Amino acid sequence: DIRPMVAGNWKMNGTRSELDQIRAIAHGVSGPLSKKIDALICPPSTLLYVATTLTVDTKLLVGAQDCHQKARTGAHTGDISAEMIRDCFATHVIVGHSERRKEHGEDNYTVSMKARAAYDQGLTAIVCIGETRAQHKAGRTMDVIHRQLNESMPADATAENTIVAYEPVWAIGTGQTPGADDVARVHARMRADLVERFGARGEAIRLLYGGSVKPQNAPELLSVPHVNGALIGGASLKAADFLAIYHAY
Ligand code: 13P
Repeated sequence: DIRPMVAGNWKMNGTRSELDQIRAIAHGVSGPLSKKIDALICPPSTLLYVATTLTVDTKLLVGAQDCHQKARTGAHTGDISAEMIRDCFATHVIVGHSERRKEHGEDNYTVSMKARAAYDQGLTAIVCIGETRAQHKAGRTMDVIHRQLNESMPADATAENTIVAYEPVWAIGTGQTPGADDVARVHARMRADLVERFGARGEAIRLLYGGSVKPQNAPELLSVPHVNGALIGGASLKAADFLAIYHAY
């Protein structure tokens, strides 16, 4: 059985005054359920080091939201490397979020290079894929997912170094989600694709759903077959909401 993960992506939100929320989340996820479920929070990089310091004796994992495709150092103004993320004691990094793909022109190849950079530093990459509203409406969801998954995941992906997040772009920040049946179809397809490519390794790779996950819809979304957890945006900013979703398990 795959160990579920409830993950929060803070995006470009969070200043020092929100560190209380990270403290509260860390406290809330360190009880008995932590034997069964992983919890991760990805604050902005400005808070990364302080977040790992605050959570050091807790069960809350800390990750970054992006890394450069070059793992170590270099002349890349404004970027952070996987090495810097590891140096902050973070263990995970999101790569290929749709906001990075759209606003920073990242394509599948770039995303796969970023995942490799994460592996190079012993980090787990959370590779994000998902169709746009136009692609969804045109009935192209399965084709888009298949291609993004294939091209964004490096050949040496394993269940230890990679998590996949399916985030339909049209569901992010909109309050809209696909129906449970649609999520089930996409996740079953991703699982089949991973098994076809990676064999037994592909059986164990975690598949998260992301896009308007809230306390109200979490019980239904998290019980969909092949949904091994959630990647939460807006609702991860408030400890009470994050913990309500966590306790949907
Ligand atoms: P929302 O939960 O705010 O829709 O964001 C989802 C997301 O993009 C997480 O990475």
